[in-house]
Amino acid sequence: MTGLQGKIKKLESTGAMQALMAEYFRELDAASRSPSGRVAWCTSVGPAELLRALGFKVYFPENHGAMLGASRMATDLIPRANALGYSPDICSSLTSDVGAYLAGVTPLTRAFGIQTVPRPDVLVYNTNQCRDVQDWFAFYSRELGVPLVGVETPRSLNEVTADVVRDLAAQHRALVPALEEISGTRLDIDHLKDVVASSYRCTELWRRVLRSARHRPAPLTFFDGTIHMGPAVVLRGDERAERYYEILLEELDGRIRDGVGAIDGEAHRFYWEGMPVWGKLRSHAEQLAGLRSCVVASTYCNSWIFEDLAADDPFEGMARAYSVLFIARSEAYKERYLETMVREYAIDGIIYHNAKTCPNNSNCNYGLHRRLTASVGIPHVVIDGDLNDLRLYSEEQTRTQIEALVEQLDGVDG
Ligand code: SF4
Repeated sequence: MTGLQGKIKKLESTGAMQALMAEYFRELDAASRSPSGRVAWCTSVGPAELLRALGFKVYFPENHGAMLGASRMATDLIPRANALGYSPDICSSLTSDVGAYLAGVTPLTRAFGIQTVPRPDVLVYNTNQCRDVQDWFAFYSRELGVPLVGVETPRSLNEVTADVVRDLAAQHRALVPALEEISGTRLDIDHLKDVVASSYRCTELWRRVLRSARHRPAPLTFFDGTIHMGPAVVLRGDERAERYYEILLEELDGRIRDGVGAIDGEAHRFYWEGMPVWGKLRSHAEQLAGLRSCVVASTYCNSWIFEDLAADDPFEGMARAYSVLFIARSEAYKERYLETMVREYAIDGIIYHNAKTCPNNSNCNYGLHRRLTASVGIPHVVIDGDLNDLRLYSEEQTRTQIEALVEQLDGVDG
């Protein structure tokens, strides 16, 4: 490897994003300390718009879990949750977050000078992604004596039928009385429509960000996406997220105009299927860039595109948007989706991350990877690892597997 190869090309917009995230966390901290502030904890694909419309500051423990992973605090914290009976086999985002609570530590201190995560007034889940989020929030409900409410979404859906949407819309509506009481605010339906409209605009902008990587060379990588998705996750429904993605898009458009790729000499285009390995983002980004391989698309980053949000019918729109998600669908649906992504992004190979503590977001346990390789005719590799528990990950093995995949493609390209 010589020269710039393997170096990560940082997006200039990163500064604006970090400033926005700092503002978000400081507002949460202030709300948590103020007697009149109201904080809701929400699962990552939970009803954030409804909570925002009721005046809650919305905090996402899974985002905190990702920070614990990226800061490599997670692995040492997980055993504390295991000691309470939370198995080492369940979601390591959950166990590291609970471990951090028990240890009284948070990566927010180093990042923003904030001593603790914001105290919740209510915990709101949606089981669309997994059951773990419900158990995760139930821990805090018992521990802090805070009400727990949520939506139970059916999973492994081949088709999201009108009956499913009707039931989920009713479940979303049924949350309102309890949330009104906790927030001390009556739901203003016009305000909810405005919040949903903003969330939809955010989704559209985020979609454009990700789709910019269809260009060759791609102006951003999956690894950039995992960082820059922050506002789409925690601030959807807040116009500041929209402003941020306008800034980022301008930079990406500039890269496309000037023929600047996210990595130098893009030769191979990969798809990342499954969770990131949060503590190894930089190492993966550098290795792949050094091999002139760009991860141009992923299921993970695309999971925060909610095309079905609808301002004119906010409850039905939320019901549909939060149930048509990839993670809540059948294998047959997932195969069709991935085939489309391979075509649209001109993918040469797929990296599947088999995250041991997240079977919900690992799609190589029921033969899908083999069937897809047969149908689209491109190679794949399966990396055994985990999102947060680095004891389940082998650096050496992963590097060798990725090298072998690239060598295979180099051989094909001659
Ligand atoms: S989807 Fe996976 S990583 Fe996310 S909360 Fe559920 S088990 Fe944890």
